[in-house]
Amino acid sequence: MEGLQITRTQTPKQKPQGPLGFGRYFTDHMLIIDYTEGKGWHDARIVPYGPLSLDPATTSLHYGQLIFEGMKAYRCGDKLAMFRPHENMKRISISGERLCIPPVDADFFVQAIAELVKVDADWVPKEPGTSLYIRPFIISTDVFLGVHPSSTYQFITILCPVGSYYEGGLSPVKIYVENQYARSVQGGTGFTKCAGNYAASLKAQVEANGQGYAQVLWLDGVSRKYVDEVGAMNIVFVIDGKVVTPDLSSGTILAGITRKSVLELLHSWNIPVEERKIPIQEIADAYDAGKLQEVFGCGTAAVISPVGELKWGDKVMHINNGKIGALSQKLYDNITGIQTGALPDPFGWVYEIK
Ligand SMILES: *Cc1c(COP(=O)(O)O)cnc(C)c1O
Repeated sequence: MEGLQITRTQTPKQKPQGPLGFGRYFTDHMLIIDYTEGKGWHDARIVPYGPLSLDPATTSLHYGQLIFEGMKAYRCGDKLAMFRPHENMKRISISGERLCIPPVDADFFVQAIAELVKVDADWVPKEPGTSLYIRPFIISTDVFLGVHPSSTYQFITILCPVGSYYEGGLSPVKIYVENQYARSVQGGTGFTKCAGNYAASLKAQVEANGQGYAQVLWLDGVSRKYVDEVGAMNIVFVIDGKVVTPDLSSGTILAGITRKSVLELLHSWNIPVEERKIPIQEIADAYDAGKLQEVFGCGTAAVISPVGELKWGDKVMHINNGKIGALSQKLYDNITGIQTGALPDPFGWVYEIK
């Protein structure tokens, strides 16, 4: 690829034996692209994976000018592919705009990431349900104390072989509806994948874990009345046969690529979807009336994550008897089928790595 230098490691690591889990192992190489004001993005290079050397006064360490993405490469038949990678590179520029980080050229950056996956191709796991998780991120690199946008940045991408999210089939998660802490408010950074959003979510996550819940469902940050989303997943409800999901107009919710894919699939099946504000009270009322049929999260890591239990205050809602709903299963089967090449790709979502 023109404009990309590749330096291969002389000391490749041993591949992990046993379960991969998520986020535990990293491949032999990483991609780095520098940005300098006035010059733009330059010096794209693939180098051996290793520690970064940063001056302790580097601005990203103090003021959090740091955004990231999450995407996956898969074995698609006998080829390697990524799922809608241009969407991720468009989104990193949207996050960047909010944090005064310069935009990237989606085509060039997708190609550079594809080259990185090719260099580490033997790290893409082969077992069903496994994949190579891709973590692109941008950090500000000016050495300076003072709240001010940086004039230099690094775009870095690391790769991480990950196991099947569901070893024994899709299993429902327990979710705690957070009614004390807030994740984002209108005018804030909720629609971006910026590091600070996740730092702000940790305390709620730890407290929910302490009560036996896997994740938190965030309500709107002002009134705690309306449903926003889960920690790293968008949320979808099936109420009385209707699919309902929060709309994105508040700017407090991340526009998930899995969410977008789910909505496009439902549209292609002529299943209507309501994108609107959803009062959490409406969910509780639907539950009491026996009309809350399915709840699921959607995001790159798990694709579709059925919710088996929702706890809101003192109210505990058991959804679909802790079983996976028919629509959740169908969406999971279709999206993973398209990703792995088991099903045709009518939408052109699969980006083949050549
Ligand atoms: C990444 C993320 C999602 C899911 O987005 P995908 O593009 O589907 O992976 C949803 N919500 C939050 C807060 C996220 O960070």
